[in-house]
Amino acid sequence: MSVRYSIVVPILNEEAIIPLLLHRLDGLLGRLDGAAEIIIVDDGSSDTGPIVLKARALSDPRYRLIGLSRNFGHQTAITAGIDAASGDAVIVMDADLQDPPEVILDMVAMWKQGFHIVDAKRSRRQGETLVKRGAASLFYRLLDRMARVSIPRDVGDFRLIDRAAADAFRAMPEQDRFVRGMFAWLGFRHATVTYEREARQAGVTKYPFRKMLRLAAHGLIGFSDMPLRAAIWLGLSVSGLATLYGLYVLGVWLAGSRLVDGWASTVIVLSFLSGMHMFMTGVVGLYVGRIHAEVKRRPLYVVETWVGFADRPHGREPMPLHRATALRSA
Ligand code: UDP
Ligand code: MG
Repeated sequence: MSVRYSIVVPILNEEAIIPLLLHRLDGLLGRLDGAAEIIIVDDGSSDTGPIVLKARALSDPRYRLIGLSRNFGHQTAITAGIDAASGDAVIVMDADLQDPPEVILDMVAMWKQGFHIVDAKRSRRQGETLVKRGAASLFYRLLDRMARVSIPRDVGDFRLIDRAAADAFRAMPEQDRFVRGMFAWLGFRHATVTYEREARQAGVTKYPFRKMLRLAAHGLIGFSDMPLRAAIWLGLSVSGLATLYGLYVLGVWLAGSRLVDGWASTVIVLSFLSGMHMFMTGVVGLYVGRIHAEVKRRPLYVVETWVGFADRPHGREPMPLHRATALRSA
């Protein structure tokens, strides 16, 4: 049976929400106008969630479970789900019901109007701390200024993509995955639906501040070379200032004034310069580190179990080039 809709749900330790999640998804399935599959990606949960999900995938042909061999992170879990999806439209949503499944119906309506990608934009965020909202807002604005492609503001990973976009996404091999940036990079005709981001229905966030920072760094570094250029300008201006200071000292000397001992200024200049140096080396190191991760050419993720798939999805074999080109020109 061919499916029209694939709904991809990444999950990490969400046992508290799973019954409610399945209930809401069942409700949604009844309202979709075509056959659908729900692909749940278990991103290395250590709770009882996978047992419940496996039971569901075994008993209900609409549900499938991909069990990753460990925690690979939200963005990679999404990738695994999209790779395995076979629908004409693929929808990615969080498990915690912050993204209301009913919004998918609005997305589908836009898809039918001919858009390849439908982003869901958060008009309000509920139940999230002020710090998190502040950090998110700062990040989106920074990204907007720095990135080479325009990444829509306040759009997370709740999104519908059609088959053409999903295939093109599957051909993107990068290790560091910032999914929303990748879809912006891909182009295609985008549409946006807005929704109110609800509070998490149960459980706690799996994105502590540390992980949020990492995602932000991935986004900025993966889609901008501004830090590298900034390092060059910083270095140049510091050297320029140092030259000016040197000229000043020379002038003072030529004017015949006795030079001060100069200990403090030497130390200040030295430490400032070495600080700059470390900073720039760090920036370069970030990019080199990414190159290192890419050249290892490891698979993006490892699947331990497939449940509910008719035949094992072929995962991430890159799409043949002629097909990718055909997609672009179509
Ligand atoms: N998640 C995941 N792997 C991770 C972290 C999160 O699969 O390493 C899932 C999580 O279970 C949820 C979604 O990604 O379905 C979004 O995470 P969360 O709701 O904790 O993030 P927040 O909404 O707080 O930003
Ligand atoms: Mg959430």
